[in-house]
Amino acid sequence: MIGIQNIKTFNKRVLIRVDFNVPLDKNQKITDTSRIQAAIPTIQKIIVGGGIAILISHLGRPKTKDLNLSLKPIAEKLSELLNQKVFFSKDCVGEKVLSDIKKLNSSEVILLENLRYYKEEEQGDVVFSEKLSKLADIYINDAFGTAHRAHASTSVITRFFKKTCFCGLLLEKEISNLNLVLKNPERPFTAIVGGAKISGKIEIILSLLEKIDKIIIGGGMAYTFIKAMGGNIGKSIVEENKLVLAQKIIEIAKEKKVELILPVDSINSTSFSNKAKASCSNIYKIPKDKMGLDIGKESILLFEKHILKSKTILWNGPMGVFEFSNFSNGTKSIGKAICTSTLKGAFSLIGGGDSIAASKLFGLSEGVSYISTGGGAMLEYIEGKELPGIKALL
Ligand code: AMP
Repeated sequence: MIGIQNIKTFNKRVLIRVDFNVPLDKNQKITDTSRIQAAIPTIQKIIVGGGIAILISHLGRPKTKDLNLSLKPIAEKLSELLNQKVFFSKDCVGEKVLSDIKKLNSSEVILLENLRYYKEEEQGDVVFSEKLSKLADIYINDAFGTAHRAHASTSVITRFFKKTCFCGLLLEKEISNLNLVLKNPERPFTAIVGGAKISGKIEIILSLLEKIDKIIIGGGMAYTFIKAMGGNIGKSIVEENKLVLAQKIIEIAKEKKVELILPVDSINSTSFSNKAKASCSNIYKIPKDKMGLDIGKESILLFEKHILKSKTILWNGPMGVFEFSNFSNGTKSIGKAICTSTLKGAFSLIGGGDSIAASKLFGLSEGVSYISTGGGAMLEYIEGKELPGIKALL
């Protein structure tokens, strides 16, 4: 994989696959610009070198040309952030786009319309990939968040840029930070896994057991483990069909000598609401009419003790329903403990949509070593899977 440090782009048309799949509110307002900001170093590098930056991305999962998922507002936001005009083309392939690009001068930037308006993008269609390739002389992939997809713009397209496809600065930075955790991590290496369910995270948990010294399990998924161990979890979220698997994970951890740490107490409520009264109980003895929505103080102390002794920390998934202020203390406290451990010299990596949202909400972003822009892509990379977007650049 070749980086862009030494490429010459003066007056060249440079197609950059970025990941502008940003969160939007009901009125299509961008609620978080992290992904746009993360793409700026590569864009700057190209325009400073006199190249014409042609940006392509997807946004959401439009079934048709859904104008609510147009990238136009992102062009406006990027203009603000780059402090220069960002042109916008209403399509991403075809004659009109080509003529829009032709009008551009060296060091100008254009963003093309949502790639996923074409079903061919997700299908990895060769003809569509070739059409995209006609727009430029050089191709750069900087979309780590989509690198686990074998789509037209992330993977298939590179066959049309045999000697002119490169790895962007963000993609490079993501890989080198993830490698710090994967290859020769300083020990003890602790993974903290939370979130609603085990289902989406089984593979990552199993693969992590090969690499780590400790695993802390919190959030909704902890209740399935507690039930599997014979606890009474009341009305807490549980995956009945994963009880055997939870037991198996506990056994594998034992075999591999990985310390598996579960919460000891739980903050409960009678309903899934921020307004309902909260009370604490032993996590193995949750009353029948209550559900656990956060970890309790004893669990926080226990988790903190392990986090503060760790030298490498990987965090994915909140410790409770952090969106409700009354049940956010566990996630906030664990985030703070990770920051303290980082200050003491640990390397900490956070990834996955909800963990990123939580770290922003609680102002933890500055205190951790690295926040990955990828959720699924980060997890798949750590599982050891080959990501199509990266493979295509090799
Ligand atoms: P995931 O996408 O699997 O990482 O799950 C994130 C979601 O898990 C967040 O929206 C949390 O509100 C939710 N969550 C965390 N803890 C619990 C819990 N104890 N009960 C229900 N949902 C939870």
